Amino acid sequence: MSTTRDYYEILGVSKDATEAEIKKAYRKLAMKYHPDKNKEADAEERFKEISEAYAVLSDAEKREQYDRFGHAGIDSRYSQEDIFRNADFRGFEDLEDILGGIFGGAFGGFGGFGGFGGGQQRRGPVRGSDLRYDMTITLDQAAKGTETQINVPRAERCEVCGGTGAKPGTEPKTCSTCQGSGQVTHARNTPFGRFMSTTTCNTCHGTGQIIEDPCAACRGTGKQKKVRKISVKIPKGADNGMRLKISGEGEDGSPGAPPGDLYVVIHVEPHKLFERAGDDILYELPINFTQAALGDDVMVPTLHGKVKMNIKPGTQTHSILRLKGKGMPYLHGRGQGDQLVRVIVRTPTKLNDEQKELFKKLSLATEGKQAKHTKGGKGIFDKVKEAFD
Ligand SMILES: [Zn+2]
Ligand SMILES: [Zn+2]
Repeated sequence: MSTTRDYYEILGVSKDATEAEIKKAYRKLAMKYHPDKNKEADAEERFKEISEAYAVLSDAEKREQYDRFGHAGIDSRYSQEDIFRNADFRGFEDLEDILGGIFGGAFGGFGGFGGFGGGQQRRGPVRGSDLRYDMTITLDQAAKGTETQINVPRAERCEVCGGTGAKPGTEPKTCSTCQGSGQVTHARNTPFGRFMSTTTCNTCHGTGQIIEDPCAACRGTGKQKKVRKISVKIPKGADNGMRLKISGEGEDGSPGAPPGDLYVVIHVEPHKLFERAGDDILYELPINFTQAALGDDVMVPTLHGKVKMNIKPGTQTHSILRLKGKGMPYLHGRGQGDQLVRVIVRTPTKLNDEQKELFKKLSLATEGKQAKHTKGGKGIFDKVKEAFD
């Protein structure tokens, strides 16, 4: 499903809304239509629509694409999940914020029980962080697809201690303050009664373990900075702003937890001849007067090599000719877009005497021809006008 309603309209903001205004509008609507809160039949659909609009408008690059090309500028081939994932990936705190806002009321209590608290209350193994890698490719690489290796600096589990942070041969001890839970519960007596609150254990900082003899290689962190060569396959038809997810190639998690994912964000360099419009390629072809008037066969560069193109006699400047199947390959499925050739007729500027003479003859011949069709005496402006009718 892909919405076709205007994203600004969906969020109820103006085209020049600031980032803060967009976020505010999104929060308000997301709270209103969150399916866990709103039981109306179309709430879920509305929530998806709102999320999609926000995923685009909160991303400066995507928003610019959308402003320039509308929905066509946004890769509609991304599934809804992709949009959600991308939104999560970038704006996870936003989502937590909002869920906190929604559930805060229902679960909100005293102390640490309110909402989805986030990192400071995590217990047990922690999944590794996701990483983002920005990669620039040429338009030719985007058209043909490419496989390349990138160097990704990331935190990996320490090989010496296996990620525990304790010197080999020793083991981390269970924290005696929290008995390994990473959290401590305090009872508070107030005039309204006795309340319990839970906070992160100060002794072990929430890990539940104390390292008495730290590993020398990682200084007790359990992690080491490494630069890892990772091979990335860019599919044919890759476009600007596309994110490739490489599962499990993010940072290592704590022992027993999965690693994060690596997201490679594609940037396509501008090409000196071609401009891309979705799956089509735009190209401007300068031709001269004679070619435009008499027609010609010309060789035109494309992403797939040079091809012969026929210019019909009487071709006007700025006409667009289509070379079928000479555009970008479709990202999903077979086939490819077209190359659109815009013909630009060049008016000659430096004529030698012989050429001037020929143009004069041409001019006389044209006037003579028009004179035959013209009964009354028409001025030069009428003749010019006729020539363009
Ligand atoms: Zn270590
Ligand atoms: Zn503790």
